[in-house]
Amino acid sequence: MKGLVKYALGPGNLAVQDVPEPDMRPGHVKIEVRATGICGTDLHIYAHEYPCRPPVVLGHEVAGIVVDADGTDHIAPGDAVTALPTVIVCGACRYCQEGQLSLCPTRLSFGSGIQGAFTRYLVVPAWSIRKLPAHIDCHSGAMSEPLSCCVKAVSLLTRVTAGDIVVVTGPGPIGLLTAQVARAEGAYVILTGTSIDRERLALGARWVDLTVNIEEENLDEIVKDLTDGHGADIVLECSGSAAATCSGIDLLRKEGILMQIGLHGRPFEIDLFKAELKEITLRTSFSGSLQSWDRTMTLLRQKKIELAPIVSDVLPITEWKTAFDRLHRKEGMKILLSPVD
Ligand SMILES: [Zn+2]
Ligand SMILES: [Zn+2]
Repeated sequence: MKGLVKYALGPGNLAVQDVPEPDMRPGHVKIEVRATGICGTDLHIYAHEYPCRPPVVLGHEVAGIVVDADGTDHIAPGDAVTALPTVIVCGACRYCQEGQLSLCPTRLSFGSGIQGAFTRYLVVPAWSIRKLPAHIDCHSGAMSEPLSCCVKAVSLLTRVTAGDIVVVTGPGPIGLLTAQVARAEGAYVILTGTSIDRERLALGARWVDLTVNIEEENLDEIVKDLTDGHGADIVLECSGSAAATCSGIDLLRKEGILMQIGLHGRPFEIDLFKAELKEITLRTSFSGSLQSWDRTMTLLRQKKIELAPIVSDVLPITEWKTAFDRLHRKEGMKILLSPVD
């Protein structure tokens, strides 16, 4: 079968190659992949800004159909499913005990540490499988994983609450999912971007209270007007741009919370003194957790989150370069890759 392989460390080094079909194992489930989302992390791996173990098939935002299942009664062939990518963990450390699998020191995820989902078949432990609700197809279902990251950041770590004035910076797929989760928690949500994000902001408008193009409008004034001059309660930074993180500190009220969700990929400077004077809490969130996956599947079952409008394209994996180039130019929204024979 064909897979999109990072074949060596360093920038680039990505190609569609022949890879062996994975063997079915006891206690595992074999999925025929229908669609796998391209994540910012994949772009970072392409640019040599995120750890991986080549040669490795990339792709960790998967949905597909079960073709073989062992060791589980809740999953059967024919089921549409998604999977937690953090499939190799020690199971014994404090983070595993807490369900924070992505923090386990021996953690490996499919799509970076072991064979991922930009290919036809994937074999993963039965415990990592989650059945998609009936109304979620495999294209939308591929976004369960990024949604679980947003749910952890917004609901579990930041604890966004009804009445909070929340600014979401960066209207990419993570920003739009983050904004939807914050809205589902009851917050007043302002989604921001620049002129290059015009279409993304227009799409985001259906889920938020206000969208702001920061090149055309004065975001600071808008937030001050909404908050009696105090500033936002929470900034959820989803762009991974240093400028957005820095301006997030300015937008917050005293004792506000900055949650960094977008990955920066490299070090950058921040005015921590400014944050100190306002007693701002700086938090970060990386990947999902067992708890956030549970809540994610519940939110999807309750139809609290819309995924389908965020998928802009589905391309065969052989067109990965077109897709990566488009995402670098910030064109489209979530682009999915589908397997080829
Ligand atoms: Zn991802
Ligand atoms: Zn562990």
